[in-house]
Parts: sequence; C-alpha cells; structure tokens
Amino acid sequence: MTASSAQITRVSVRVPAKVNLELCVGPRRADGFHDLATTFHAVDLFDQVDVTSADEFSLTVTGLGADVVPCDESNLAWRAAQLMATSYGVDGRCAIAIRKAVPVAGGMAGGSADAAATLVACDALWGLGLSRATLEELAAQLGSDVPFALTGGTALGTGRGEKIVPVLATGTYHWLFALTHEGLSTPAVYAECDRLREGHRVPEPSPSDGLLASVRSGDVHGVAVAMHNDLEPAALSLMPRLRALMEFGLEMGALNAMVSGSGPTVAFLMASRKDAVALRNVLAAGDLADDYVLAASTPHGIRLDDVQLRCVLRREPL
Ligand code: ATP
Repeated sequence: MTASSAQITRVSVRVPAKVNLELCVGPRRADGFHDLATTFHAVDLFDQVDVTSADEFSLTVTGLGADVVPCDESNLAWRAAQLMATSYGVDGRCAIAIRKAVPVAGGMAGGSADAAATLVACDALWGLGLSRATLEELAAQLGSDVPFALTGGTALGTGRGEKIVPVLATGTYHWLFALTHEGLSTPAVYAECDRLREGHRVPEPSPSDGLLASVRSGDVHGVAVAMHNDLEPAALSLMPRLRALMEFGLEMGALNAMVSGSGPTVAFLMASRKDAVALRNVLAAGDLADDYVLAASTPHGIRLDDVQLRCVLRREPL
C-alpha cells in the first residue's frame, strides 16, 4: 500500500516598498540609535522573493538595480534566512531568488522588504508555522524597517521604527520618485542630523495630528501640508543639489516634495497619476536626477503569491 503527502518545494512572496509620510527623529540615544515617530505608507512597487529547497545555499538578484545589490551574507535576505535557520535548528539550505522593482538605496526600504519576504517564505518552506509576533521579533533583529514590511498599508512606527501599529488610512496618493545614482549612507545622514542639531534642544518625536487626520480622511492636500522629514536638512546638507530638484518639481505642479527616508530619493506628491507622468516627462528632459519611478498607495502588504508542492509517495507495510 502507498500513502501520499505534500511537501512544499518553493514559495514566492511579493512585498511592497514604503515611503515615510512623516519621519520625526528624536535625540541621539546612548546606544547610538534615535527614537523615531514615523508614518510608513506602502506604495505599489513590489520586489518578489522566491525561496526553493536546494542542496546548497545560494542567492541571486535580478531586476532594477540588481548590479549594485550584494549576493553575499551582507544581503538582508541572506541574513533573514540564516537567522531563521539558526533560531529554529533548521538545516537552512535553500536557493533565494530576488527580483527587484524597488529602487536600491533609495530610502524605500527595499532590502528590509526582501528580508521580511524571506522570513515569510522560509517559515512556509520549512513548515515552522511561526506566529505573527515571532516573525515580528525576528524582523526587528534584522533592521528597524523590517517589521513594517510584514504589516504594509499605513502604520505608525515608534522606537527605532520597529514598533508598528497600523493606522486607519483611506484614499490613494500618487507619487513621482526621483532617483540619483550617487548614494547617501543612512548612518552618515543621521550623523549629519546630529551635527546640525548641536546646541539645540531636540524634543521627543511624536506623530502630528494633522498627518494622521489627513490619511484617515484620504485628504491628499492635507497630507501635502503635513508631510515632513526631520532627516531632510541633513540629506540636503550632504547633497545640496537635491534642493534644486525639489524646487523645480514644486514649480512644475507637485503638491509637495520631500526627501524620502534618509534619501537621496526625492518623493513628489502629485494630485493624480496624470500629473505624475507630466512631471516625470518635464524632469526627464533635464539632468536634475538620474531616474524616475511612478508609484501609488497600495493597501496590499506582504503576500504569499505562489506555493509549489511535491507529492511524496510512501510505501507502507500491508
Ligand atoms: P536603508 O535601510 O539604508 O535606508 P534603503 O531603503 O535606502 O536602505 P535599500 O534598497 O534597502 O535602501 O539598500 C540599502 C543598501 O543595502 C544597498 O546599498 C545594498 O548594498 C544593501 N542591501 C542588502 N540587501 C539588499 C537587498 N535585498 N536589496 C537591496 N539592497 C540590499
């Protein structure tokens, strides 16, 4: 007699990028981190992470900006798989394939998104059945932006950004992201932020009522007024040419412009997709940025897209 069971051999996960609608940065803590109050907002640029059972561990990256993404243990997806394997005593051999659509090093947390996707994929592949709370704990060990990637939508992040509470949000916001090939290192931007604030009293960070009320009612003009990034002066100090880009976009009809996260990407909030396309066309004719990406709000968070099963037949004694 034979009996059969199904074994998962491949899991595909899709995960969106984020923009920080507001990023309030508190004073530097004794451990070197900063307390944040930030409103994360997922946008419809998705990386896909496929994790397949394999005889050896491997990682490949294709898609937008793949040539500058490391394929070794410094890749956050690699670290996510290793962390899960060592934490739960799993052998951990698998092939991770990342297909990137989230701009790399653009303050849109693409690496963090890939790490979250890898946690979800490995949990399913290895049949661990981890709880949401456990996945969030692992995510927080990997980086401050990783837990939000597990949640998606719109959410308030506090602590280092890793304590996540979903917030009620309605409406769809249209964005144009202007990318520059020259990067800005996140630690350098925080250090510059501290330097610029020397001698000033820095309050504890707290989210603004105006922004939360605007996202609750889906008021794009309210969001345009309230959007704010405390790291922007530091990013502009390290890369002054971003200022001309922001000013030009505002003159050409953006509702507002803001450095995205720690930069150097600039996020333009637009009244419609049509306006976003028009601004991209005007900007692309000049040389203020190197590349442009359109995106809109997405209610979708991380999502298991596909699971491949293998049927295992066992001969059982009669
Ligand atoms: P940060 O968390 O530094 O603000 P970011 O959101 O600006 O990051 P990411 O796309 O996450 O940008 O890339 C930051 C750096 O992380 C890249 O320069 C790259 O070397 C490294 N990195 C590691 N893993 C990945 C990954 N899976 N995808 C993209 N970059 C990665």
